[in-house]
Parts: sequence; C-alpha cells; structure tokens
Amino acid sequence: MSLIEKNPYRADFPELTQKIRGKNLVYLDSAATALKPWPVIEKIGHFYTYGAANIHRGAHYLGDKATTDFENTRELVHKFINSEVMEEIIFTSGTTASINLIASTWGEVNVSAGDEIIITEMEHHANLIPWQILAQRKNAQLKVVPITESGDLNLEEYKKLLSSKTKIVAVTHCSNTLGTFNDVKLITNLAHAVGAVVAIDGAQAVSNAPVDVRDINCDFYSFSAHKLFGPYGVGVLYGKRNWLNKMPPYQYGGSMISKVSFSGTTFNDIPYKFEAGTPNISGVIALASAIEYLQKIGFAKVHEIEKDLLKYATDEVSKIEGLKIIGTATNKAPILSMSLVGAHHSDIAQILDQESIAVRAGHHCTMPLLERFQVKGTVRASFSIFNNKSDIDSLVSCLKKAKEMLT
Ligand code: PMP
Repeated sequence: MSLIEKNPYRADFPELTQKIRGKNLVYLDSAATALKPWPVIEKIGHFYTYGAANIHRGAHYLGDKATTDFENTRELVHKFINSEVMEEIIFTSGTTASINLIASTWGEVNVSAGDEIIITEMEHHANLIPWQILAQRKNAQLKVVPITESGDLNLEEYKKLLSSKTKIVAVTHCSNTLGTFNDVKLITNLAHAVGAVVAIDGAQAVSNAPVDVRDINCDFYSFSAHKLFGPYGVGVLYGKRNWLNKMPPYQYGGSMISKVSFSGTTFNDIPYKFEAGTPNISGVIALASAIEYLQKIGFAKVHEIEKDLLKYATDEVSKIEGLKIIGTATNKAPILSMSLVGAHHSDIAQILDQESIAVRAGHHCTMPLLERFQVKGTVRASFSIFNNKSDIDSLVSCLKKAKEMLT
C-alpha cells in the first residue's frame, strides 16, 4: 500500500483530528502555512509553562538554558542548510523581514543610480516590493525575467538581462503559486559571472526539498519557520559572512551593540549585529523541533509522498472539463493552482469550505504573475506529508459539485 493510501504521519498533526461543521478537516493549504506536529506544539507549551526567560543576559539557570537552546537552534539551522559557519544564520521574524533586511542594508550601500536589480515574474510580493522600493529610492532599474506558459523561468531571457550593471538577482527557489522549482544553482552561477549577488527566497522550498546554500553558492537565502512545520513570527536569513560583516545594521537597540556612549555606539559581531531586541525565543527554540521532526522523516520520504500526491491530484483534476491548471513545470512542489472557466475562484473556495476542505483562493501575493496568465485569481490546493488520497478524492468530488453549481 502506498504512503498516500495509508499515511503514517497524519497522527502527528492534532489539527486534523477536529471536525469543522461536522466534517473532517481536509487541509490543503500548506503553501499558506504548514500545520504543526506535536513536538513543535509541546516545545512551545513547555517553554511558556516552565522555561520563560530572556536570552544572552540571564544570570540564572533558566536564562542560561534559554540561551543554550536558542543558540543550539542556530547551530541546527546552520547544519540544516549547510552554511559555512553558524554566525551566518540570523533569526528574523520571517521571510518578509529577511528580504527587507537585505534590500535595506545590503541595498543601501551597494546599489546606486543606473544599477540594475533582476527579479522574476513569479515572485511573491515579499520578494518584489522591497526591490521595487529600493530601485525607486536609488534610481536603479528593476528588470523582470519572464516565464513560459508552463511556469518555468525563461533562462534565455534571463541571460540576456544579465550585464555588468546587474547588482543583485532576487529569485524564488520555489513558486508558492505555480509550484515551479527554479534551478537556483545555475541562476547563481550566471549571476556571479557578471559580478552580481544572488538573494534567494526559500519560503516555499525549505519544506519540500533539502537546501544546501554552499552548493547553490548564493549570497543570501531567506525562509520562514511557519511553512516548515514551525512556529509563527520566526524566520531565517542566511548571508555569506563577508557580506554580513560589511552590511550596516537593520535595527538598533539592545543585544546588537558592543559599546554604547552618548558620543557614539559600536556594534556587536554577526549574527547579533542583526538581532536587535528580544527575539521570539520560544519560536526559535521550537523551530529546532520542527527541523528535527522533518529530519526524522527524511526528505526522501517527503519527496515520495509529495510526488505521489501531486501526480494523483493532477491526474484527477485534469479530468474535470474546463478546469485549467496554472503551473505545469516538470520540477514542481505539490501545489495545484486552478482556474475554472465561468466560475469565480472565491465562489469555488466557499463551496469547498462548506465541505470543510481548506484551500486558498485569490492572487497568493503574486498579482503580476496572475496578470501574466490573464486571471484575477486561482483556487490553490497545496499538499503536504500528512495528506492522503482520500483528501484528494474529497477535493475532486467537491470541485465537480462546484462546477455544476456555478457554470
Ligand atoms: N515568499 C514566498 C515564495 C512565500 O510563499 C511566502 C509566504 N507565503 C513569502 C515569501 C513570505 O513569507 P512570510 O509571510 O512568512 O514572511
């Protein structure tokens, strides 16, 4: 029996045990946020119950313990994405914060009038607007790599856009709307060949595939804990240490200083230089539980389940006449963005919700991408390690019902 018929991981996710409007929850919205497994929930509960203490300054047992657990998470993340040293791991509040940090600090000192910034047509707004604003502030040019009908990056066009004027290439590792996985290693190589820096948005990729920042050789890599089965309000920014050392701080306050006087301040070393104020301590500590949970399953298993879920869902949904899948790249995460001729995406989502099937409907924070496909929004079903065949059967039968009702 395949793993998607009898899924062994469902029991790890208590949210799935509840009924909504009397029906079992079918959660198909992991691309918005992942459900949380027991170890993550327990770790947060344990910290708030017995472990609350501030880090890096406690002169007592619980302060030391919180600091050790916090720094152990940094070490785990460093190994998880294979950075060269653990000082290259900065904790932020999420991918959005990580990307804004790069655009504001690296961008501030490295981008000038006439320079060019390359993004792609499939970027999440979080990896678009910070660069757009930076370009406006510096009088630089924003260049956009187009995508093909299947939702792949047009690499020939990318090569044409690269030049000595290119300062940075900001690209997503995996599209949250199309599912497309980009060849970020190749993209990085090509960018480095013209002297440009590469910042990768890994928000959608980290839970679906192993990430090796040294193999990719990117300069920056950002992701959020909440899409990795972890807590909210925690993100990671990886940066090559040479860059981080040269960048000015992003925010000013406690923890990020080395010496303060009324005549001036000197700053702490990396990573603390970028971690002003009290962080989300329990969140960071529970991120370690999320990573350990995922490592215990292993990416080989994750891939096996997700590949089968995506294939089964794609095959079944394709049988519904008039329903178009947007994003058909060969290398893609288990995400199905769908549009049904003659029916509004929100109406379809509402009908699915009545059956307790949770999907996302709208532009998925990728408005220019949907414009490219000439749709206002899609219904997006996204799958994860806890989904099974029966979840997809429910989705398909309800999509058929929605089609009958709406068209
Ligand atoms: N980039 C991508 C590809 C995403 O999927 C998301 C989250 N949907 C983000 C950036 C922003 O992440 P966050 O909201 O956690 O900061």
